[in-house]
Amino acid sequence: MDSRGLIAAKHVQANTTLSSPISVTVIESPNVPTIGVGEGTWPSMRETLKKIGINEADLFSCCDASFKQASKFVHWENSQVALNNTTVNNQNHSYFHPFSLPVGNNQFDLGAQVGMHSPDQPLPFAQQVCYQSILCEQNLAPKQITLKAYDYIANYGYHLDAGKFSLLLKDHCIKQLNVKYISAHITSVNNDTNGDIASVSTQNNGDIQGDLFIDCSGAQSLLLGKHFNIPFCSQKNTLFNDTALAIQVPYEHENSPIASCTLSTAQTSGWIWNIGLQSRCGVGYVYSSQHTSDSSAEDELEQYLNSLNKTKNNANTSIRKLSFTPGYYEKFWHKNCVAVGMSLWFIEPLEASALAMIEQAAQMISEQLPVTKSTMAITAKRFNKKFITHWQQIIEFLKLHYVLSKRDDSEYWVDNRNPEPFPTRCKKCLNYGNIEHHHHLILRTVILCFLRQVINMFYTACTSTPGRVEKIMNKMKLYSGH
Ligand SMILES: Cc1cc2nc3c(=O)[nH]c(=O)nc-3n(C[C@H](O)[C@H](O)[C@H](O)COP(=O)(O)OP(=O)(O)OC[C@H]3O[C@@H](n4cnc5c(N)ncnc54)[C@H](O)[C@@H]3O)c2cc1C
Repeated sequence: MDSRGLIAAKHVQANTTLSSPISVTVIESPNVPTIGVGEGTWPSMRETLKKIGINEADLFSCCDASFKQASKFVHWENSQVALNNTTVNNQNHSYFHPFSLPVGNNQFDLGAQVGMHSPDQPLPFAQQVCYQSILCEQNLAPKQITLKAYDYIANYGYHLDAGKFSLLLKDHCIKQLNVKYISAHITSVNNDTNGDIASVSTQNNGDIQGDLFIDCSGAQSLLLGKHFNIPFCSQKNTLFNDTALAIQVPYEHENSPIASCTLSTAQTSGWIWNIGLQSRCGVGYVYSSQHTSDSSAEDELEQYLNSLNKTKNNANTSIRKLSFTPGYYEKFWHKNCVAVGMSLWFIEPLEASALAMIEQAAQMISEQLPVTKSTMAITAKRFNKKFITHWQQIIEFLKLHYVLSKRDDSEYWVDNRNPEPFPTRCKKCLNYGNIEHHHHLILRTVILCFLRQVINMFYTACTSTPGRVEKIMNKMKLYSGH
């Protein structure tokens, strides 16, 4: 039904194992734009793109894309002020969550080993167990130019222009996968006698029938939320962020280096993302509207831009405000309707998990697409169980970023560290080990274990070598392999 619905459509069209061919139709409103943000992906995107037949070179040339190897968290443990006023080891003010798994992963207890050789001045956890943070610090690419598309030395995903990515998907869907695309605004949803959806009515294209409806209508959740009234589980008590101010800023020079990790810099009431594409950076402040006003958030965003020698006046766009309610619907698949993307859930962009979850959902739908409606309830039950667990793990994973902070410089951080609303499993993880002593070591292991669980689900692939990639890799300095 939309651009990201195109990921679902393509998975279903490209992957379905049913013996009789199925027909997939995407309906997208000409009046409602896509959300237009979502520039960070996980490594799973490589496999998804390969599976649906998109050439990596096309991604780089059409979507302004660059490599993403990690997220770097700055000032999440201590505020800048705390660092200036104390003797806190400067290395502690940032840490990485790289996409490559730790060396020795699953072979021994990393948490117990790290720091053993220099307990007084331990390196950040990621640096002790993985080489990828060093690649990121030096703006190196995760692969050599001689490697095939989608192959890698260090595991990677992408930073990309969300709007251009939608267009690439749409074009590929229509031209290569025979997906029928209808530009039409849905006005109502019609049930059959069993309470399944029989059709959707549109403004200028009449009624459109179907057997299975994938709701990709974004935050309005037209089918699952509005039509079926599935209850929404707000997560606002656990994860407070509900607003973002986004802006696109140019590089200082044409040859400015492109960062190969997402920079996430903690602020007094949230955090700022900074994502480097080929031609510009996407920057945005995600914050809790309960803890700060829009104008204070804008001031902080401006201060951040100033620290990069940029101002909102030399930006490519004006500041755009986005509001969202963190949470998810109680059921994801109901009757003959399954929701994918923001029509199902959205928490906040930390760790950029939304697109990865869309890929996973699309894959499961395509693999388990019931042959007849009679088995739909079984698939729905399996789908709901699996994805509720995923969301809960992601919520815990995100919450740990805040819980593990030592910041107390604002109400936002004090509230975030208050153990009361922590999810239960989060509490269990926190009871593991001597937290104070091993704060920056063991707890990073806990975080990485969550990350590992999700990263482990994904795989890699290869096709042909792109030309445009070379330019980007040169800008990132070529990784020499040693
Ligand atoms: C601030 C912010 C930052 C984010 N950053 C990331 C990130 O770094 N990484 C990541 O993975 N995710 C990120 N996300 C999430 C990501 O943007 C979304 O998951 C992704 O864009 C998918 O959105 P969607 O397709 O579900 O919804 P939308 O993009 O809103 O699309 C909705 C579609 O439904 C159609 N539609 C709506 N109403 C009708 C109607 N009546 N009839 C017909 N069609 C209709 C619209 O035309 C549109 O095409 C971020 C989100 C936010 C808010």
